[in-house]
Amino acid sequence: MTPPNTNAEQQEIRKKTPSDFIFGKVIGEGSFSTVYLAKDVQTNKEYAIKVLEKAHIIREKKSEYVMREKEVLRILESLCPYIVHLYSTFQDPGRLYFVLTYAKNGELLKHINLYKKFNFECTRYYSCELVLALEYLRSKKIVHRDLKPENILFDHNFHILITDFGSAKIEKSEDNDINDGTEDDDVQQSNRRRNSFVGTAQFVSPEMLQESKSSYASDLWALGCIVFQMASGQMPFVGGSEYLIFQKILRLEYKFPDGFDERIKDFIEKLLVLEPTRRLGASDETTYVSLRKHEFFEEVDFDDLGPPPKLSDVEYICDRSNSISIMPDKEPGLDPIKASKLAIENILPVSSTVAPPTRKKSETDRKITDISAEDVEDRLLRQEGNPFHEFAEGNLILKQGLIDKRKGIFPRRRMFLLTLGPHLYYVDPVTMTYKGEVPWSKELRAEAKNFKTFFVHTPNRKYYLEDPTGYAPEWVKAIEQVKEYYFPEQDSVETN
Ligand code: ATP
Repeated sequence: MTPPNTNAEQQEIRKKTPSDFIFGKVIGEGSFSTVYLAKDVQTNKEYAIKVLEKAHIIREKKSEYVMREKEVLRILESLCPYIVHLYSTFQDPGRLYFVLTYAKNGELLKHINLYKKFNFECTRYYSCELVLALEYLRSKKIVHRDLKPENILFDHNFHILITDFGSAKIEKSEDNDINDGTEDDDVQQSNRRRNSFVGTAQFVSPEMLQESKSSYASDLWALGCIVFQMASGQMPFVGGSEYLIFQKILRLEYKFPDGFDERIKDFIEKLLVLEPTRRLGASDETTYVSLRKHEFFEEVDFDDLGPPPKLSDVEYICDRSNSISIMPDKEPGLDPIKASKLAIENILPVSSTVAPPTRKKSETDRKITDISAEDVEDRLLRQEGNPFHEFAEGNLILKQGLIDKRKGIFPRRRMFLLTLGPHLYYVDPVTMTYKGEVPWSKELRAEAKNFKTFFVHTPNRKYYLEDPTGYAPEWVKAIEQVKEYYFPEQDSVETN
């Protein structure tokens, strides 16, 4: 017997619109999306709303990726606590909106980098949650295909939430175990990977590289890589280019750091196996029972993992700063003016607004250069986990981001690092090689042309730069603040 709908249920059934939410800070940006923290006007519940520009999706030919994510999230429903839940989707003439569980504590990657590595207890705990999530995915016939620490988020209680199902595959056959993927789909995925300039080379399984075929076991390979990274702070397969990384994967060329826990080592070795069918769990009759039985999980009660172990006391500081979330005077909806205002607040908070704490955790009125010597030391220590740290020559990175640098007709995508010193370095993010530096002098001047394009004028050259995410004015603001800090006399702007 079906009970009559309650008011709350009827609310859920009605298609939501942007006006049902108050949009707050920008909590993340993907290549094709902006993710906002938002509050449901009716229920006051917080969500992460992923907003995608239709024109951008079509231009970049990403419709299939977006539809895939929606379809898979629908299939996954809300039955697994370790997977981001899609509450609703809606659209307006220009955009698509995905209302998702808000992962308040950000990406697993951020936490691994922050603490260098996890201790045994934390590694084991989050490995258990990953195993449970993979069991659920398997029961729903979903292969994620892009599992990595950036796609594993933490909720408010520090439980994992797997996200980013745009590359996932829905297995069609009933008894698919290994290598029974729809090849077209796998080939498309493989092309996507080959065409991407950054990404997931380090976590891709050998069969996806070699035969463009994926299966549930491809996610088991990724699990091995993620457990390795949690326990050591490093990825197992690293190299100066995607090509070199792929070579290492295909040769199974990786090394455990000294002192690596033997139980975790054995678990990883049984997952990082070239032949997919031989990976631990790949041929289980009862899904992943052999993972659960591994000595790494001795004494673990998979039916009741209990609360997560503390990553560190510092965590609770992060947590507090995240809780001042939405400005109380905001109106519901997301028109273009509000969207660009939130985008600007995301990068550098504007004075006179309530501090919108972002993942960059800036403070109200704070300039990028307002940092104490202690902060510099502390941030430098943490910066060591940043893969671009080595290019900063020991200087603190104040701002970094991918920028298309035009020289002649062809733009080159570079990681720009604005540092104390001052320096403005740029690095090839694919080959991880240093490419150069914009020379600083008192004559250096930054100028925004629009949200995407900005120029850096130096006496001998005008650098033509494009921020693909559309935050050019924030780069200009940051560069100008660094200039003001190092060349105060020359700055005649805003002196009233
Ligand atoms: P790309 O499309 O370039 O691969 P992506 O898949 O990470 O990027 P999104 O899924 O749109 O892009 O996410 C962008 C960022 O927003 C992520 O890096 C993540 O930090 C943040 N984010 C995404 N979903 C959530 C969520 N549910 N809760 C909190 N933060 C989120």
